[in-house]
Amino acid sequence: MVGTRTHDVDVCVIGGGMAGLSAALAAARRGATVALMHDRPVLGGNASSECRVHICGADRNTRFPNLRETGVLEELRLANLRHNPQRSFSVWDLVLYDAARREERLALLLNCSACRAEADDRRVRSVTGWQTTTQTWRTVRARTFIDASGDAVLAPLTGAAFRSGREGRAEYGEPLAPERADRGSMGMTLAFAAVEDDRPRPFTPPPWARRYERCEDLPGDWREHGWWGLGYWWIELGGLDDSIADTERVRDDLLASVMGVWDHIKNRCDRHREAAGNWALAWVQFLPAKRDSRRYVGRHVLTQQEIQAGGDFPDVVAYGGWTIDEHPPVGLAGCARLGLAPAYHAEVEVPYGIPYGALVARDVDNLMFAGRCASCTHVAMSSARVMGTAAVMGQAAGTAAAMAAARGVDPADLTDDVGALQQALLADDAYLPGVRQVFGEVNRRARLKAAAGDPSALLDGINRPVGDDDHAWPCRPGDALQMHFARPTPVRRLTVVADSGLDRQVQMSFWHPSRQLAALPETLPAELTVEVLSDGRWGRPIRLRDNCRRLVRVPIGRRAEAIQLTIEKTWGAAETRLFAAYVE
Ligand SMILES: Cc1cc2nc3c(=O)[nH]c(=O)nc-3n(C[C@H](O)[C@H](O)[C@H](O)COP(=O)(O)OP(=O)(O)OC[C@H]3O[C@@H](n4cnc5c(N)ncnc54)[C@H](O)[C@@H]3O)c2cc1C
Repeated sequence: MVGTRTHDVDVCVIGGGMAGLSAALAAARRGATVALMHDRPVLGGNASSECRVHICGADRNTRFPNLRETGVLEELRLANLRHNPQRSFSVWDLVLYDAARREERLALLLNCSACRAEADDRRVRSVTGWQTTTQTWRTVRARTFIDASGDAVLAPLTGAAFRSGREGRAEYGEPLAPERADRGSMGMTLAFAAVEDDRPRPFTPPPWARRYERCEDLPGDWREHGWWGLGYWWIELGGLDDSIADTERVRDDLLASVMGVWDHIKNRCDRHREAAGNWALAWVQFLPAKRDSRRYVGRHVLTQQEIQAGGDFPDVVAYGGWTIDEHPPVGLAGCARLGLAPAYHAEVEVPYGIPYGALVARDVDNLMFAGRCASCTHVAMSSARVMGTAAVMGQAAGTAAAMAAARGVDPADLTDDVGALQQALLADDAYLPGVRQVFGEVNRRARLKAAAGDPSALLDGINRPVGDDDHAWPCRPGDALQMHFARPTPVRRLTVVADSGLDRQVQMSFWHPSRQLAALPETLPAELTVEVLSDGRWGRPIRLRDNCRRLVRVPIGRRAEAIQLTIEKTWGAAETRLFAAYVE
C-alpha cells in the first residue's frame, strides 16, 4: 500500500549533490531543523560513485595556491583523506553519508524524488517527493526551501522564474554569448574506467555501439584517448536536446558512444590498440552527469563581465575562480566533424565574488538555490558550475536559511543585513574575498603571548595566506600560545584555524602525485592541548587527539583569566602555522 508522511522543518533542501549537502549541513549546524530530499541512494551528485567527477574549484587544482574552498567542503575532504587514502568513490559516498548522519537536526530522505509543490502568495508551502524504496509520498513543509537539484526542479513546480539555453549577447552585453539567444546547452557525459590485467582482454562491442574507425572521428588529439582510468569528459551529448526531458534517450546515445570509443581503443586505434590489449572495462557509468539545464533568475544574475572583473559585491557570500569552461552544444555528435574543440576556456578574475542575490529567488520569498542552478547567465554558469564553487554557494544558502529561520524572517529579508551572514560564514571557516572576520571584543582586548614568532596575525581576520602575507602564526609542535584576558571572562569555546595545506591537491583522482595529498596534510595539528587559568590556577589540560579538521573548536564552558593552547603533534611536519585562535 502507498504511504504518506509529512515532515515539518525549518529548511528543506532538494538535491544532495555537493551544493545541497553543503547547504543541509550548514543549516543544521546553525541550529535549523532540516530535511534533505535526494533522489539517489548516495550523496554527492556528480562527485558521487555514480558519476565520479572530481571536485574542482577556484584554485584550479593548485594553479592558484591557497584558494581551495574551506568550510564544510574542506571538512569533508579532510575526512576523506583520513578515512579513504585508497581513494575509493564508494568510501567517499560513505564519508558524505556519515557527515549527514551525524547531524541530529538533519533528516535525510534518500531515494526520494521531489515532484510536486504547493505554492501560493509568493511562497512555497510544501514539497512532495516519491520515495521509491518505501513506496511513500514524503511531504516536507518548511519555512525556507533551497533548490540544489541542478535541474532547478522547483522552478516549474512553483512558478519561480528560470532560464535554460544561452542568453543572446545583447541581453547582458556578454561578449562570449551567442549573438541570438538559443536553446543550446552543454551536454551530459557517461564515463568509464578500465583496469589492466596480466593477460589479453579482448572486447566485443554490443551491436548498438557506435563505430569510430579513425582517431580523427573523435574530438581532440589522439593522445586524449590514451588514458583509460576514468573515461572522457568529451563523450558529451544532449546539448541540442532538452537536457531534462530527453535524458533517457541521451543516456542510450551516450552508452552507445562509450562502447564505440572503447571499441576504437581496443580494436581499431593504430596508436593505442596494442598498449590497451590487457585492459578491460571495470566500471561504466549509467546515470548521466549533467552540466547544464535550468537556471533560476534570482535577485541578481551573475554575468561574464562580473566574473571577469572579480565580482566585487558588497553582499559577497561565496567565490569562484574556475575558467569560463564552455562546451559547444553539438558535443561528440559534431565536434570532430566540424573541427571544433570540445571545450574552450576564457579567463576570469581569480577569485571572483558571488553575491547573495544570486542565491535568492526574486519572485518567491522563501526560495533559495545553489550550485549549477544558481542565478547566473549561461556564460557565468560555465565557470561557477564546478563543485567547489557549488559547495560554497550551498554553505552560504544553508547558513542564510538557518539565520532567517532563527529570526523568523525570509531569506530575502536578510539582504539588508548581509554583514551578519558574512560573519557567520567566516566563523564557519568560509573564505570571502575582501571580507575580514571580526572577533568579539574579548579577543581584541586579550594579550597574546608566544615564546616564538609573532601571534598577532591570529586576529587579523584573514585565515589563510593571501598574496605575500601568510596571515599566520608560525609554530612547531610543543609551542604554546597564551591569551590573557583583561578580566575573568566566561568562555564557551576556543576556536583555532589550522594549516590543512591549501597549496596541495586533494582530488579523488590522482593526477599530480607530487602535489596530491595521499593522506592528511602533514602540517595539520594531530594533537592539541588547552589549559584554562581560572581563579589563579591552571586547570586540568583538555586534550584533543586524532584531529582531522582545519576548523578546530574546543568546548571550554568556564570563566577564564587566560587560556593556553599547545600544538602537541602534527601529522608529520616539523613546522606548521595557525591562521586564527579566538574565544567566544
Ligand atoms: C562530465 C562532467 C565533467 C565535469 N567535470 C568537473 C570537474 O572536473 N570538476 C568539477 O568540480 N565539476 C565538474 N563538472 C561540473 C559539475 O559536476 C556540476 O556542475 C555539478 O555537479 C554541480 O553541482 P550541484 O550540486 O549543483 O549539482 P549535482 O551534482 O547535479 O547534484 C544535484 C543532485 O540533485 C539530485 N536531484 C535532481 N533532481 C532531483 C529531484 N527532483 N529530487 C531530489 N533530488 C534531485 C540529483 O540526483 C543530483 O544528485 C563536470 C560535469 C560533467 C557532466
